[in-house]
Amino acid sequence: MSAGASPSSARDALTFAADAGIHCLAVPTPFAVGRVNCYLVDDEPLTLVDTGPNSGKSLDELERALASHGRTIEELGLIVLTHQHMDHVGLLEVLVRRSGAEVAALHLLGPYLADFKTSVAADDDFSHEVMRRHGIPDDMATVLGAVGVAFRAFGSRGRVTQELHEGDELALRDHTFSIMHRPGHSPSDTIFWDADRQILIGGDHLLAHISSNPLIHRPLDPRAPRTRPQALIQYIDSMLATRELPAQVVLGGHGEPIVDHAGLIEERLRLHDRRAEKMLRMLEPEPLTAHEIAVRMWGNVAVTQAYLTLSEVLGHLDLLARDELVREQVDDGVVRFEAVR
Ligand SMILES: [Zn+2]
Repeated sequence: MSAGASPSSARDALTFAADAGIHCLAVPTPFAVGRVNCYLVDDEPLTLVDTGPNSGKSLDELERALASHGRTIEELGLIVLTHQHMDHVGLLEVLVRRSGAEVAALHLLGPYLADFKTSVAADDDFSHEVMRRHGIPDDMATVLGAVGVAFRAFGSRGRVTQELHEGDELALRDHTFSIMHRPGHSPSDTIFWDADRQILIGGDHLLAHISSNPLIHRPLDPRAPRTRPQALIQYIDSMLATRELPAQVVLGGHGEPIVDHAGLIEERLRLHDRRAEKMLRMLEPEPLTAHEIAVRMWGNVAVTQAYLTLSEVLGHLDLLARDELVREQVDDGVVRFEAVR
């Protein structure tokens, strides 16, 4: 790649970012998604975007990755968080203890991380209720809840010292990032836009290889209605806003960087349209619960990854309901969706 040219491959994109002082550090996780990408912004203060999960193996690898750039954990001056998931925030407390770094994150994350245990327990209660209401048998929901509890150890509490809001700027000596709140994958998704270099640090808002799942989360904003959030509708709005950014490179939270984010967003939108149509056809003969639809679409995966697939189905049903193509029937606390004729 010649200097100044637009990167056209994932490899060029990493070089483009590295030339701008932004280095990808891929840290292992115990989750199905594989490695998580943290980013070292070589600036003043020395900045790390996301931490990796709370495990000894991740800490070792993060340390080695920092060392390959001649840096140590103790030198970190600022830790920035893209969203609330454990693979992105789990080492926060350990890294802050060792470095004394400041922590910058979306304002909604402060209270969430301050009392992490209570927050995830409330998340688990919320998902249990969503599962029960949408047709996942109670014993299955209980087993899934227990798996969730086992994974909590990979998270961490932490103290946010600098709250970020939509429209704020995060200014380092040489980089200035505009802060944009892009909920969908999670309610706290925050993206960091370096307009000078046309580089976007996107967390899990947009990923190259996996359609970023709009998980149904408990709302973090205390003013939000207590009803189930419409995660896919939110996510589509967020993607439409991101499509407008003139980004050369989007650095994602997993996998390779993205060089054609507008094209990728178009592809995702088409995928969501096709899935919604497929679900509507499934509902034509008879009303079904969201879980029954998930089982018909993905078979056993709808059992092993029940919450993920349930979130996906509900997202598409929300799109259909918005267009008045389906409606809910509630019977004994369980929701079935029927096609509107
Ligand atoms: Zn995530």
